[in-house]
Amino acid sequence: SLTVGVLAIQGDVHENITSTQRAIKELGVEGSVISVKTSEEISKLDGLIIPGGESTTIGQLSLVNSLLKIIKEKIEQGMPVLGICAGMIMLSKTANDRVVGKTDQPLLDLLDINLERNSFGRQKESFEANISMNSINIPKFNGVFIRAPSVSDTGSGVEVLAKFNEKIIAVKKGNMLGVSFHPELTEDVSLHKYFINLIKKSRN
Ligand code: GLN
Repeated sequence: SLTVGVLAIQGDVHENITSTQRAIKELGVEGSVISVKTSEEISKLDGLIIPGGESTTIGQLSLVNSLLKIIKEKIEQGMPVLGICAGMIMLSKTANDRVVGKTDQPLLDLLDINLERNSFGRQKESFEANISMNSINIPKFNGVFIRAPSVSDTGSGVEVLAKFNEKIIAVKKGNMLGVSFHPELTEDVSLHKYFINLIKKSRN
């Protein structure tokens, strides 16, 4: 049976638990979803979701609890991770804010991408748009963007899964998946299902 954790430091934890539970059920997989906030809990996971929220806060609090270290170790050992919005920022190498520039914030530095925080501007801090992720068989998805980042730069081996307005909004490399939008805020759980299948495969 799979254990999927949602990092519960800050951000929309509950919505991700609900979406992941639905995905597990719809796939007919045996598994459970728990919220995690200690190293011990994280060490037992088969997969982790780092939810959206405020990346500066998630980073600083995770640093204090020395959670960043264990999360980084687990991902390096192959544990699949889904980083959503602030969660994708946490996975990245460097983050620049569109307005204030280079931010000095703790990051996991695992996914070889540069990020632009708050990339879609103040007028459009929040919006929804139809997007497609054809390479992972999700041709149509309602993307909910909330003060969303975009990927400004990808390193080698990073696959671009989706773009919106010329900007990269979904990426994958190996066991790491990062998206700018919030799949937990729509009824469609296909991205959560894709993530569950990624966890299943990593355990074979
Ligand atoms: N703007 C937030 C940040 O930079 C991310 C917003 C979100 O996760 N919805 O951390």
